[in-house]
Amino acid sequence: MMKRVFRRVLCGMMILLITLTAGCSAPASDPDTASFTAMDTVMTLTVYGADCCERIRDRALELDQRLSAVDEDSEIFALNRDGTAVLSADTAALVRRTLTLSADLDGALDPTVYPAVLAWGFTTGDYAVPDDEALRALAARIDYTAVTLSGDVCTLKDGMMLDLGAVAKGWLADEAKAILADSGADGAVLNLGGTILLYGSKPDGSAFRVGIADPAAPASCFGYLNLGEGVVATSGGYERCFERDGVRYIHILDPATARPVDNGVLSVTVICDEGVAADALSTALFVMGAEGALDCWRAHGGFDCVILTDDGRLYLTDGVADRFTPAGDDEYEIMPVHRDHTGS
Ligand code: AMP
Ligand code: MG
Repeated sequence: MMKRVFRRVLCGMMILLITLTAGCSAPASDPDTASFTAMDTVMTLTVYGADCCERIRDRALELDQRLSAVDEDSEIFALNRDGTAVLSADTAALVRRTLTLSADLDGALDPTVYPAVLAWGFTTGDYAVPDDEALRALAARIDYTAVTLSGDVCTLKDGMMLDLGAVAKGWLADEAKAILADSGADGAVLNLGGTILLYGSKPDGSAFRVGIADPAAPASCFGYLNLGEGVVATSGGYERCFERDGVRYIHILDPATARPVDNGVLSVTVICDEGVAADALSTALFVMGAEGALDCWRAHGGFDCVILTDDGRLYLTDGVADRFTPAGDDEYEIMPVHRDHTGS
């Protein structure tokens, strides 16, 4: 437990560092800022030209309360407990969008992984390695196509449970963007814990500079992206993992097997206009592995990605290839990826 708390604090410090880096040029006037914990992570907000951090924080806390799978007062908890629930229109909209994204991503994103997430102990930190038979049974329960949503009434098949953890922060980014627009903000950097919203422009007009956490030392960055507006979502095994008998198990699960992904991917960063899509993609591309992820990028487009693998390769798709600056003398090999070939 202490270890988890320590990790959260470390993570929070890292996030603060990234946000400060992202908004480091001298502002014309003091930005509105806030830092708080929601969705199991530290969030830091910097807004130029409007005072709306409190509204965004309130929305983050409200969404957290509705969407959390562990909070006994949440809509998702009630749905998982009862197998059916009348959701608020907002939550139903997120479930609907998530099911569409799951289909678009061929089930690499599947919000019904929750029984497996529980069995591995990722929600409590009380880790366990289920045996093969248990895993087969868990995998059989994972199937987003068996979730029905009729209006705002959601119904799950027997033994099925939802987890919106892979998309909630991205959804919040989209909501925050609407609040920023409504408030007349000029620019903002909202670090929602691994999902960053870049909005408008900085007071000096320069590009936003976003650090990508180094999976080997997540408190520091292995490189930076110079970006305009958009959402930057990162999924990394380092965010939550444990080791048993020399094997490392991470919190991103392959819905086909109910097992933690072990395909050589260390981290995936997605840059996309729509926050919920960026968040869904970062998780799903991680599950697909580098080659599958790049095939998905070629097939769909509409986003860019940065993928770091354990064989020392750093894949950068077309739109970000010349926006990346390494933080130091890193040992990875940069692999620009184009539409017609992998660059390998
Ligand atoms: P993210 O950090 O956005 O990649 O989301 C990871 C979280 O989503 C995990 O902690 C799980 O709660 C949940 N999750 C894990 N694997 C999947 C998956 N394949 N599809 C959907 N949700 C997942
Ligand atoms: Mg995600």
